[in-house]
Amino acid sequence: MSRAVLRFVVHRIRRHPESEAVAAARCLHGECAWEAAPSLSVNDVDDQCMAHTGLNAQHTTFARTFSDVALVERVEGAA
Ligand SMILES: [Zn+2]
Repeated sequence: MSRAVLRFVVHRIRRHPESEAVAAARCLHGECAWEAAPSLSVNDVDDQCMAHTGLNAQHTTFARTFSDVALVERVEGAA
């Protein structure tokens, strides 16, 4: 019978250094399919949402998302 040697490897996860978080938003009112143009600035996305509500008073709820690229790295020297 062979024996496997299992070794616990420590990893960490962080934002990829060549990526930036992108904000986006989608109107949740009824069948409205409006979406904000994705932006690196959440303030820009928020402004777009408020402008959409300004034109459509009932459209007050938005799904905001923030996405980035994550990088998992092995931690060298960790126990
Ligand atoms: Zn809408």
